[in-house]
Amino acid sequence: MHQRVRGLRIEQVWFSAHKQPFKTPPAKQARELEGRAILGVHRTGKHIVCELGAAGGGALDESGGEIAAQWIVHLGMTGRLLVTTPDAPLAAHTHARLGLTGGKELRFVDPRRFGRLELRDLKRTAGFTAPGEEPLTIGQEEFAALFHGRRLPIKAALLNQTLLAGVGNIYADESLFQAGITPRRRCERLTKAELERLRLALRQVLEAAIRLGGSSVSDYVDAEGMRGFFQLEHCVYLRTGQPCRRCGRPIRRILLAGRGTHFCVQCQR
Ligand SMILES: [Zn+2]
Repeated sequence: MHQRVRGLRIEQVWFSAHKQPFKTPPAKQARELEGRAILGVHRTGKHIVCELGAAGGGALDESGGEIAAQWIVHLGMTGRLLVTTPDAPLAAHTHARLGLTGGKELRFVDPRRFGRLELRDLKRTAGFTAPGEEPLTIGQEEFAALFHGRRLPIKAALLNQTLLAGVGNIYADESLFQAGITPRRRCERLTKAELERLRLALRQVLEAAIRLGGSSVSDYVDAEGMRGFFQLEHCVYLRTGQPCRRCGRPIRRILLAGRGTHFCVQCQR
């Protein structure tokens, strides 16, 4: 996204008539977006944050200008953000079309509408920050401190976005498998060594998934509409009843914290 839209200006905006996925009312959002330059795009937790220049089209130079607003996109379950051209065929469930300079168009497509689109004017509100710590960079001590003395199962803690930002169901299951920890273990019962194994496994799993373009188990595609391949590497997620890649025993599925949870009874303790 960053490489494809950085430095382009939003010329016109079209939104669908659905109430979701708009966290900021669509009319206001469209008015605020038009004319602004996209200075950069980054990820914060599970959110994609587009940094925008001044309203009404401030100067767009190499220095990028001052960040005046943010367009915050949460893909939800089935959302996708595509960089395409205005004449490309329109997918069903397209909720946003941002016409950009350079003959490009940014589209948000979301069949199930769990995604969210929000605009923040930084003159009035603070910039977006994820509530939890970043799993790719967190250190050993801080990681251990997040789970210290907590009685809830480790799987539930991993999904809690106020502790770690951006870890979803797939990556929680996969990293617990890699670390050899059963998802039901209470955080307070984990040893220092186990927590460190988990921290490293989480980083390894997330980095591998990013390298392979994510996990396309249902609708996920990247900015060019390409599916990811990490689902082919899954050891436990959605492999219920299939042999464990390490010990051969069938992978089990339970419900934990309201989510389908996949693990190996033998390899995870
Ligand atoms: Zn196993």
